[in-house]
Amino acid sequence: MQSIMRFAAVTTLAALVAAPGAIAQSGPTKLDTLRNPDIEAMVARLDLEKYKATIKGLTQFGDRRQGTSRNRAALDWIEAQLKSYGCTNTERVTYTYTTPPPRPRTGGPRVPSDWGSGGARLRGVRTRTGVNMDSLKQTDPKLRALDAEPAKDGERQDVYCTKVGSTHPEEMYIVGGHMDGHGWGEAANDDGSGTALVMELARVFSSPDVKTDRSIRFALWNNEETGLNGARAYVTQRQALQGKENPPGSGKYPEPKWLGMIQHDMMLFDHGMPRPDGTMSPEQRPEADVNIEFAMTSAQSEAAQKLAWIFATANDKYATDYPAQVGQHMTNTDSQPFEDLIPAISLRENERGRDIGAGWDPQWHQVTDVYTTYSDKDFRLGLNAAQTTLSAIATLTGASLKK
Ligand SMILES: [Zn+2]
Repeated sequence: MQSIMRFAAVTTLAALVAAPGAIAQSGPTKLDTLRNPDIEAMVARLDLEKYKATIKGLTQFGDRRQGTSRNRAALDWIEAQLKSYGCTNTERVTYTYTTPPPRPRTGGPRVPSDWGSGGARLRGVRTRTGVNMDSLKQTDPKLRALDAEPAKDGERQDVYCTKVGSTHPEEMYIVGGHMDGHGWGEAANDDGSGTALVMELARVFSSPDVKTDRSIRFALWNNEETGLNGARAYVTQRQALQGKENPPGSGKYPEPKWLGMIQHDMMLFDHGMPRPDGTMSPEQRPEADVNIEFAMTSAQSEAAQKLAWIFATANDKYATDYPAQVGQHMTNTDSQPFEDLIPAISLRENERGRDIGAGWDPQWHQVTDVYTTYSDKDFRLGLNAAQTTLSAIATLTGASLKK
């Protein structure tokens, strides 16, 4: 008798939980009601014209190839800009870069494969990709002269500055992009667009009325194009310093503990797949999106994909024009040296392995990667990536505006 009663009570409860009203109440929440007004106001401080002006500023140093005076001048200019934004505690990582000897070619002729970088499956129309090494392809004599100095082995530097957290200065997120480029153009998209994004975020977070609980480091890596050497040098030199107060009792943490690394590399151009004749649509496609990638092969894959979804949700809530998509094949950029140590993701215009690797960006490492190639619709995709990272990082670090 008693047991039957208990059974009846359980079914009633189950019926209640499954009632349509109860389901409606626990259904999807409307994200716009969950926007944080302070974060909305911070996102509104990003501006298309400012973002374009920062990219334009970087292109005055041509392709910014590592190991040249134009690369060093660009690094000095970036540091001066960061200071002018109020991110005054700039520092540099110094390392030496030596060009490795050319790898001897092994085996017979290269067999075309359906598999791209990072384990991505290649689909549909593919066009040739590569790095332009021919100065004469640059038909603008001024730009050809600006890009003429060859790289010389030797000392190199990255630059970074840090927004110090008010309650947890000992922990930080790293927001990065690479400031070097190549190909005899202006490296406007690869990676002027990512570098400018990081700089614009440094500007917004360094405003005196912005407070964050945790720290944020804005890092511009050198030598990405030669094999992620600048980011690797940072990891090698600074990994063991994490979370240590120095000097003891000072409240200062020269290397806060790494909570995550977010890289930005090629943010502008999403015109779709090449057409069957190899040409491209001249317009940004209406379906353009920000591609957030984590590496499913990395030791931190599980935490990295959680981070990726936080960014995708921040995009839903705060980005004005373009959505974000998450993919599992992060590869070939400065987040890679971090991927087995901490959650690491990259943001891009397209997936690196599946799309860019199949020729979806005809300017990639070519003379045509110059500022004038891109339209406002292209620049706006980069701005939406900036809105995505700004709002995600503001959420993760507990950002607020001082009243
Ligand atoms: Zn790049």
